Order: sequence, then structure tokens, then C-alpha cells
Amino acid sequence: MDRYRVQPGTRVNLKDWDPDDKANFEKGKSKGLKAVLKLSERLELLQELLFAQGKHKILIVLQAMDTGGKDGVIRRVFDGVNPQGVKVASFKVPTPEDLAHDYLWRIHKQTPGKGEIVIFNRSHYEDVLVVRVQNLAPPDIWEKRFDHINAFERLLADEGTTILKFYLHISADEQKARLQARLDEPDKRWKFNPGDLKDRALWGDYMHAYEDVLSKTSMPWAPWYIVPANRKWYRDLVIGTVLVETLEKLKMRYPEPAEDLDKIVIE
Ligand code: AMP
Ligand code: MG
Repeated sequence: MDRYRVQPGTRVNLKDWDPDDKANFEKGKSKGLKAVLKLSERLELLQELLFAQGKHKILIVLQAMDTGGKDGVIRRVFDGVNPQGVKVASFKVPTPEDLAHDYLWRIHKQTPGKGEIVIFNRSHYEDVLVVRVQNLAPPDIWEKRFDHINAFERLLADEGTTILKFYLHISADEQKARLQARLDEPDKRWKFNPGDLKDRALWGDYMHAYEDVLSKTSMPWAPWYIVPANRKWYRDLVIGTVLVETLEKLKMRYPEPAEDLDKIVIE
């Protein structure tokens, strides 16, 4: 999956990244869906080990345009994990209390502790995306944030957090179809937010802002992956594979029991 990883120091042009790509799995959708199920089973076991060992902290950042599939990834890739050790933190429009603090305040509070996986559904990157595109703060405020964010993630990594960041890359046409489905299908209507159209109208500006994010904040200790996300199964396959491979590299083991259990007799 290295082909989707943004190499630090490279300039990303999203026009060069195909949201329909499926180069790592040519066997098609039905086999792809089965592969995703297998990955989520492996993830289930790895997460149990992570929780039992209580040593590593895992932070997963999901960013995308509306309808990009953040919720779908959470539902399908994390299908079987134990809710005790996995938390989803969704970042919405900041509250007055959030806004009374620096923008990383609400973020830092949600980062994973030992043995935990935390999934960020949106993140501190909104503070250089929506804030920039919708002019919620002037450039001299948000421009400094790339450095803050790199330093913040470096801090988390130095203190033992494994960080993976996924940008779910869909095309404007695919978004159109997905928004239309939200209008057409009764059980999807609840997801339709007229505000999404305002963001859609600024698609080009968002792509430009994402290109800056991906170019400036992909680090060896906190890499970005640009996930082709027009096909849901392929999106899940890429993310599931990266997660499983990353967790396997941690070489986790169940903790040794405190005493020699072989001598214990239960009457
Ligand atoms: P959703 O994730 O679609 O339910 O919507 C959450 C909304 O909150 C999105 O429109 C985001 O752009 C917005 N949002 C998240 N973080 C921020 C932020 N830091 N500043 C302004 N808006 C934000
Ligand atoms: Mg939305």
C-alpha cells in the first residue's frame, strides 16, 4: 500500500491521484468485499492484543469531503472490535468552550491512552481546511498551524503514539451521486445537510487546501495515505490493510501473568 503513502517533502497534486484506482486488487468487488471481512477479523484479534498488552496507543485520522465515506470506514473496517478499547472522536463545529481555547485543546483531550485505538472522524486538520476555505480565520492565523500540527503530532509520536492519517479521495462526480442518493433514498435523507452544498460549491478551494495539508504534514511518524475512495470496498481494503500491517509490525504479545499460573489449583 506504499503507493498511497505521501512521501514527506513531495508536493501533492490531487489531479495525479485517481479516486477510481484499484491497482492493488484486480479480482473485483465480490472478492474485495470478502477480503475486507478477513481484514476486519484480523483487526479484531490485533485490537484485543493491543488492549491486553496495554502498551501502544493508536491514532487514526480520517478526513474527507462530505460523503467521502468516513462513517462507512468506521462501520465496516472496525466491524468486530471490542468497544472497550476503541473510541471514535467526531469533531464538529467547535463549541463556545472549544473556541475559548486554542484549536488543539479539544483535540488533545481525545488522543488515545495506552492500549487504545482512537479514530478521529474529522480532526485538527479542519482548522486548516474549513477554516481556511470558509474564511473563518485570516491567513496569518491558519498559516502557522501547519507547524503547530507537525509539532503536536511529533509530540504524540515521541510519547508512544502510532499515527495513521487517511484522506478518502472521491471525485466531484461521485460526491454528486452520493448527495443525490441522500435526497432520493428515504433511509439516507437524515444524512442530507444543505450546508454540504456550500462546501461542494467550493470544491476547487478544498482540493487546494487538501493539497497543502497532504504536502506539508505527511511525516515518517505521521504519514498521510491518499485512499482511492470512489469504490467503497477498495477504500476499506486499503485502510484495513494499512492498519493490519501497521499493528502487526508492533510485534505485540500478551502480557506475562504476574505469577506462575501453573502452580495454581482452583478448588
Ligand atoms: P459532519 O462531520 O458532516 O457531521 O459535519 C461536521 C461539520 O463540522 C463539518 O461541516 C465541518 O467542516 C465542521 N467542522 C469541524 N471542525 C471544524 C472547525 N474546527 N471549525 C469549523 N468547522 C468545523
Ligand atoms: Mg457534513
